[in-house]
Amino acid sequence: MVNYKDLGLVNTREMFKRAVAGGYAIPAFNFNTMEQMQAIVMAAVETKSPVIMQVSKGARNYANATILRYMAEGAVAYAKELGCKHPEIVLHLDHGDSFELCKDCIDMGFSSVMFDGSSLPYEENIKISRQVVEYAHKYDVTVECELGVLAGVEDEVASAESHYTKPEEVIDFATRTGCDSLAISIGTSHGAHKFTPEQCTLVNGVLVPPPLAFDILHEIEKKLPGFPIVLHGSSSVPMEEVETINKFGGHLEAAIGIPEEQLREASKSAVCKINIDSDSRLAMTAAIRKHLAEHPGDFDPRQYLKPARENMKKMYIHKIVNVLGSDGKLAQI
Ligand SMILES: [Zn+2]
Repeated sequence: MVNYKDLGLVNTREMFKRAVAGGYAIPAFNFNTMEQMQAIVMAAVETKSPVIMQVSKGARNYANATILRYMAEGAVAYAKELGCKHPEIVLHLDHGDSFELCKDCIDMGFSSVMFDGSSLPYEENIKISRQVVEYAHKYDVTVECELGVLAGVEDEVASAESHYTKPEEVIDFATRTGCDSLAISIGTSHGAHKFTPEQCTLVNGVLVPPPLAFDILHEIEKKLPGFPIVLHGSSSVPMEEVETINKFGGHLEAAIGIPEEQLREASKSAVCKINIDSDSRLAMTAAIRKHLAEHPGDFDPRQYLKPARENMKKMYIHKIVNVLGSDGKLAQI
């Protein structure tokens, strides 16, 4: 059993409180590789932002749970080495699908876990969420739960259609589970293909997806004033990255994300954690494809992973500064 505090990590409680009061959101970036981890830490240090590094069940299968945990411990040391005296780094489990998985992560040093019971019947979701919260709070680990189903595919999490969160359920759910934050469904979606072209409107030759359901978000805020709300599936799928991928041999069709203005607007509300995964994948793949196409003789992974890391770092900094507004928001600078 390792406690996250011994690893220099923090839970989400204080940073969420400040984010809700300050009208900004904390970035939650998924990572599976060393280059992603380095890019996240460099971006957070340069912008003086708190950051949530999250690991999905798929990431644990890909990279190995123990290695990821040590990488997070390394991330804290790396942030300090880069000159950040008091880094605020959360190691978070994304989409935990059972009590056992959440417990395993807590025992391994995670400072925050998500239990996603959104596909379960309501009472069952409450029951397991409550069980996770009871265990997590013994170790001061914070818990995110989910109400409402997001469409899209994210590692093993997949759903054909979304079901918006019902505002009338949130008080009962938050009270009975005791969760620290709530992921809601208001029109965001997992993956790089969030909407079909048919769901979008064509404005000046660009496909614009349907707007997020801000009315539902505001209703939820009224029912749970100041309660931390989380948005999943919030990549914007930048067109320039998709174009680079396609220009250099890729084949991504109709990749559509959430417009950044909408995320900026959501950040100003009780939304205090915004999950971004696909944009990092796109930034990495675009840089690697471009490099290999332009340098066909290169075969040292460092030659193409270095520009990939740079491109991800640039994207993370852009999100922190221009979309979420969490730059300069460390408790102690
Ligand atoms: Zn998600």
